[in-house]
Amino acid sequence: MKLSKTALLALIIAASTAFHISCSWDKVVLDRVKSSISLKEAAAKELFDKDKITVILIGTGTPIPSDNIQNSTAVFVNGQFLVFDSGDGVAMAMEKQHLPITDINGIFITHFHSDHFADLGEVIDRSWLLGRRNNLTVYGPKGTSELVSGFLKSYKLEYGYRTKHHGEEAMPSQWKGAIANEFSLKADGSSKVVYEKDGVIVRSFYVNHEPVEPAVGYRIEYKGKSIVISGDTADSENLTKHSIGADLLISEAMNKSLVAKIEKAYELLGIERFRKIMKDIQFYHIDVEELGRLAEKSKVKTLVVTHMIPAAKGFFQVKSFYKDPLRKEFSGNLIIGQDGQKIILPLD
Ligand SMILES: [Zn+2]
Ligand SMILES: [Zn+2]
Repeated sequence: MKLSKTALLALIIAASTAFHISCSWDKVVLDRVKSSISLKEAAAKELFDKDKITVILIGTGTPIPSDNIQNSTAVFVNGQFLVFDSGDGVAMAMEKQHLPITDINGIFITHFHSDHFADLGEVIDRSWLLGRRNNLTVYGPKGTSELVSGFLKSYKLEYGYRTKHHGEEAMPSQWKGAIANEFSLKADGSSKVVYEKDGVIVRSFYVNHEPVEPAVGYRIEYKGKSIVISGDTADSENLTKHSIGADLLISEAMNKSLVAKIEKAYELLGIERFRKIMKDIQFYHIDVEELGRLAEKSKVKTLVVTHMIPAAKGFFQVKSFYKDPLRKEFSGNLIIGQDGQKIILPLD
């Protein structure tokens, strides 16, 4: 076959354009991969900096739909990465927030409402898929072993496919899944050390989320600094006691006068099922003003509000639903949490 000069020229131009495009895409992809790796490395370097404690509010949401990822808080302390709760959307949020998911030292569960554990299976799986090379331990009260074994059972085929497809070198079956470390607490309200490593101590204590039992909070201590995580709770003497002098109290909050208005709206509309749910939930969460009083009484330095019901969107809602009622009662530093928010506690 003989090509005319014009056809030959067109072919050369098309081939060189294709070659050029393919070369420039190679470069674009290479640059993208390089930048994603360096972003992760830079984030990990900063988060594992031993001169400070860094808290990241991975998700501040609740079971009530909002723009927020469900509940989870990360604490980076003395080169360790501790995760508290793991609600829906947390695994993906960790990756988007460039958190070093392969290096989690422990996951701590506060209680067994799904907004606190729904993504536990994904966090365990993603940490392994992306390169975790150690045992991952999930700490929590009675029920944790059952929860973890349930996830491991439901991920059994997934784990098998990955190792079979990519090989033992890339997906070592030795490190798949997680180990449950279930603890029990005394009924007298005292705390118990449930984790201790290189000077970092995590204590757990009961909170009051009745009729949901068990429900616990955690207090993380290192070099004289302390961070308390409430879990879900009504106003609780025990939370007050274990929050004393905390540098950070990260607590749930409910604006009960607003939730009562939602309850009333369902009543007016004759929707009994949701009216009842809106009534019931007011008994096992802490009202925003009660939280302000608790934090003041415990002489908390900074109060961080998360797991807000209802969620607050924009300046006006944040101010009127949460800031103003808290300010009436609490004189310390106040942070109304947002997904991905970073709070730094320098070490002296
Ligand atoms: Zn919750
Ligand atoms: Zn709950």
